Amino acid sequence: MMKAAMFRAYQNFLMPSRLPEYEQLLRDLVAQGYSFLTVADLARQGALGRLPPRCCIVRTDVDSDVATARDMFRIERALGLRTTYYFRLRTLDPGLMREIADSGSEVGYHYEELATFAKRHGLRNGGDIDAWADAIRTDLARNIERFAEVAGRSPLTIASHGDWVNRRLRVFNHSVVDAALRARFGLLAEAYDDWLNAPVRARFADAPPPAWWVPGAPAASVAEGAACIYLLLHPRQWRANRRENLRLDVERAAEGVAYAVRCAIRANAERKGRLKAPASMPERSA
Ligand SMILES: [Zn+2]
Repeated sequence: MMKAAMFRAYQNFLMPSRLPEYEQLLRDLVAQGYSFLTVADLARQGALGRLPPRCCIVRTDVDSDVATARDMFRIERALGLRTTYYFRLRTLDPGLMREIADSGSEVGYHYEELATFAKRHGLRNGGDIDAWADAIRTDLARNIERFAEVAGRSPLTIASHGDWVNRRLRVFNHSVVDAALRARFGLLAEAYDDWLNAPVRARFADAPPPAWWVPGAPAASVAEGAACIYLLLHPRQWRANRRENLRLDVERAAEGVAYAVRCAIRANAERKGRLKAPASMPERSA
């Protein structure tokens, strides 16, 4: 526990930039003859069995730290690579998003409406979520429209964010994405669709120290030329944005307290039979 806190403090505030290491990884992939595909490319070509013999999908979830995301993108662009960035509502950045899309890379929506709804209304379990799936879908649809306005185009794909409250509830944000929503926005894929990921042969995600990668570093797969490599990245793992990390830690603590209070109020109201639904929503007939 103590060790984990020390590693977290190191990563948040002391870690030197790992961007040179990132650039070297990309250069190694290029040297090994990898073609770089966006997630939308993977959806279009993978389903048809038309992937290049060696392909790499680089996906960055911009959970925080747009400045580091911008520097990661500029490294990729200088190497002429096509990659995919997913932006949350809190990290939307019209300038960077348009720059990415105009270069031929992809920008998608990193959505979390289920988690946001659960936190706002003190929902405590999967059953609560089921009862409010339609309301959550309405939020998601409205926010995809907002994303499209900011990005200047509709997303081709979307990717579920994993929030602490999702882990608490054991429900993923993508559990509310249905066929109607996909059809309405012409979505090619949700990043966690099984069919989308079927061609991937080696998958790696960046991780906090001391591991840095899950399940391990990608170097060996790159060296042996694995057919389809998928890298899932987060700016926070590559450079310490001290101010932003401090703000995130404070916000996370405040969110936890607010959620606990809302859960307690809701549980109390339910016990007294006064509340069957989140307070700001119309009650459903029993
Ligand atoms: Zn995320």
